[in-house]
Amino acid sequence: KQNTLAVIKHDAMEQHRETILEEIRGRGFCVTQQKEMVPSRELAEELYKEHKEKPFFNQLVDSMCQGPCLMLVLTKENAVEEWRVMMGPSDPAKAKETSPESLRARFGSDILQNSVHGSSNTQHAEEEIHLIFCDISTE
Ligand code: ATP
Ligand code: MG
Repeated sequence: KQNTLAVIKHDAMEQHRETILEEIRGRGFCVTQQKEMVPSRELAEELYKEHKEKPFFNQLVDSMCQGPCLMLVLTKENAVEEWRVMMGPSDPAKAKETSPESLRARFGSDILQNSVHGSSNTQHAEEEIHLIFCDISTE
């Protein structure tokens, strides 16, 4: 079985957290670790380091630090890909067109406030899970 890091972002926490958790379990994922936290700037920068050179990097990091997020380790066969399918495309406007049942289509507002995050591949998944759940300095 495979692990992936899923994050219910701040913008979806208040209204959609329980629905998202129910759907995750309904699709057969096991939630093997769970932690609610407001990410520090340092943590958000590390989580999104692949986008360091992008023009939207600062906005992306800021939006991640605005309030509590729910960090989840999801375990299932093919978890990385299956969670990305559940999320849908990054931009909720595009998601509404191509995958209207996806989480981002239903719960995202715009490309930054797009309700959820998921690791992009198994290597990143391992790194991200280690970053969130094994670094005692972020406790
Ligand atoms: P994520 O990594 O958040 O799970 P993703 O893999 O679908 O989503 P990436 O291309 O890795 O998308 O982008 C990471 C995040 O950066 C997106 O979720 C989105 O919030 C933000 N982002 C991506 N492209 C843009 C853009 N053009 N303008 C502003 N923000 C963007
Ligand atoms: Mg990504």
